[in-house]
Amino acid sequence: MKRRVLVTGGAGFLGSHLCDRLINDGFDVLCVDNYYTGTKANVAHLIGNPFFEPMRHDVTFPLYVEVDQIYNLACPASPIHYQHDPIQTTKTSVHGSINILGLAKRLNARIFQASTSEVYGDPEEHPQQEQYWGRVNPIGPRSCYDEGKRCAETLFFDYHRQHRLEIKVARIFNTYGPRMHPNDGRVVSNFIVQALQGDDITIYGDGMQTRSFCYVDDMIEGFIRMMESEAGLTGPVNLGNPDEISMLELAETILRLTDSPSKLIFKPLPTNDPRKRQPDISLAREKLSWEPKVTLDDGLRETIEYFKKMFQTFDPALTLP
Ligand code: NAD
Ligand code: UDP
Ligand code: UDP
Repeated sequence: MKRRVLVTGGAGFLGSHLCDRLINDGFDVLCVDNYYTGTKANVAHLIGNPFFEPMRHDVTFPLYVEVDQIYNLACPASPIHYQHDPIQTTKTSVHGSINILGLAKRLNARIFQASTSEVYGDPEEHPQQEQYWGRVNPIGPRSCYDEGKRCAETLFFDYHRQHRLEIKVARIFNTYGPRMHPNDGRVVSNFIVQALQGDDITIYGDGMQTRSFCYVDDMIEGFIRMMESEAGLTGPVNLGNPDEISMLELAETILRLTDSPSKLIFKPLPTNDPRKRQPDISLAREKLSWEPKVTLDDGLRETIEYFKKMFQTFDPALTLP
């Protein structure tokens, strides 16, 4: 018998890569998504596979299905998307987690939570280790996402303590790759789209702020290792690439790889934009024997190829709400 896995947010960027990987690994996949930021195009190639079942559903409503494992990824992830309807963002993290945890409890199923480095907020500690409690503004424009994800972690740990649920909480740092949404405003997709179209590259602030970018295949490998880890490992475990780069350096790298004539322009830094972000992945190295393998140049090349193809074939499924 194949093991049945539920992926919430399965039609999104990370979710669709996870569905691919799970099907390749011999699982029977139920992909639940309300297509808020994900697209049917991301999973179109899986339609017709007898071990893939798409289901349109909003996780803020109860869900009664039968599965053996659950990956909870449902939640808009880019600032433009999660700030578009901030109340729905908090509901997705909080009500959505309650429903999916209730489901896991009824089924006694192991459950993975896609948490985020945003739980650290604009950190005073660098790099961020899992025991750092974070510095998050509870009332700002990013709070719906950051505090929603923090509350989701609280719920996961309370279901673990109160109902002995097997939880696996991963704190994901910036991840990029094919199937990122072209209009989601995230820096890698923005810079690539601008470079390919010859538009100005928009640097927010002075461009000296840093991030650490992980290629999607490495991240999905981390998810699987976390889910399959020993029962006692609840996390949170940081997953990300520790190679830190400034936004100016990123822009220059993308201009070089696309051979683009685009110019850099400077725009105001968004509110509460963290200055630095870099994961300490010692715990993932130790407990999961995991670390990223794909270099930034290789990962960016794959992502650039994806966007080039996308611009050659207009896809109406990529239109945003
Ligand atoms: P994404 O926006 O591409 O995927 C999220 C998916 O969830 C979409 O398909 C969306 O339609 C779906 N969704 C949203 N609200 C829903 C709801 N109420 N019910 C059902 N489905 C819903 O984003 P992503 O980058 O693939 O992120 C996936 C998860 O990983 C998110 O939980 C995100 O917070 C987390 N994460 C991602 C990153 C990153 O760099 N990509 C970093 C940290 C955390
Ligand atoms: N729930 C669900 N699917 C299930 C079981 C529960 O969606 O298979 C939802 C249910 O709507 C409930 C929530 O999960 O509100 C939390 O469930 P739990 O059993 O923890 O709490 P209770 O039902 O006692 O409120
Ligand atoms: N950024 C930028 N230009 C853009 C989009 C983003 O300079 O066109 C910056 C943004 O201000 C932030 C960094 O790039 O400092 C990463 O932004 P992203 O939204 O991708 O991720 P997050 O802020 O959530 O880490």
